[in-house]
Amino acid sequence: VPPGVPALAVEDVGRSFGGVVAVDGVGFTLRAGEILGVIGPNGAGKSTLFGLVAGSLAPDRGTIRIEGVAVEREGAHKRVGRGLARTFQIPKPFPEMSVLDNVVTAATGQSGERVLASLLAPGRVRREEEAAREKAYALVRFLALDHLADRPAKVLSGGQRKLLELARALMAEPRVLLLDEPAAGVNPALLDFIIERIAEINARGIAVLLIEHNMDMIRRLCPSVLVMASGRPLASGTPDAVMSDPRVVEAYLGG
Ligand code: ADP
Ligand code: MG
Repeated sequence: VPPGVPALAVEDVGRSFGGVVAVDGVGFTLRAGEILGVIGPNGAGKSTLFGLVAGSLAPDRGTIRIEGVAVEREGAHKRVGRGLARTFQIPKPFPEMSVLDNVVTAATGQSGERVLASLLAPGRVRREEEAAREKAYALVRFLALDHLADRPAKVLSGGQRKLLELARALMAEPRVLLLDEPAAGVNPALLDFIIERIAEINARGIAVLLIEHNMDMIRRLCPSVLVMASGRPLASGTPDAVMSDPRVVEAYLGG
């Protein structure tokens, strides 16, 4: 990546659903090792913005660049290959599958693509699968789920599901990580651990875009935040500065 090129650059993206304008003219840049918070009341368009960046939703307008490459016409899978990974606001692990296997299956190689490879080079595929299991287990340990590695994902608490979701996203070794409300439904004891782990991931140089309602998490992780309201960018700055901005206060009060 040439110096000075942001990890992620979003310019003037917009998306409507029927008559509802969900995202309307949002832009920002995120450099390697930076972390940007995205806040705003429910319905502000935060999750839609994530969908546009991750590629699960097509934008009506605007540009999205990952390390300088325009990706707004590419699908989600292609963007994962370019170094982008996301977590979902509501994690949906395979409930009967083990915690470890949930992480292993998040590896970018799709089973469909592997059918031919396993026929032509079974040894290589087996070695790759072993390497994937080792990596998955290291991530499960990093996120303190190792004692649950062999249990079905359905036994996990809300907070543990968020950790599993994070492990699945990290399996792709992203350079840009999108986190949609990692603190939602997490008990306070686990919250500190999640904050610590996100800080550690970010300190390794991974750019992080963090949607979160929990202002404690935002204050502790984000030097800068973007506030969205009704699909539009409303304010940006430090968490304390934006939260004392009367327009932001009004947006949260439903004004
Ligand atoms: P946030 O994550 O900030 O709560 P969302 O991005 O989920 O906001 O939603 C923004 C707006 O877009 C809301 O009015 C929501 O109802 C609407 N919206 C989001 N996704 C869809 C969809 N798939 N179909 C129709 N409307 C949607
Ligand atoms: Mg949302």
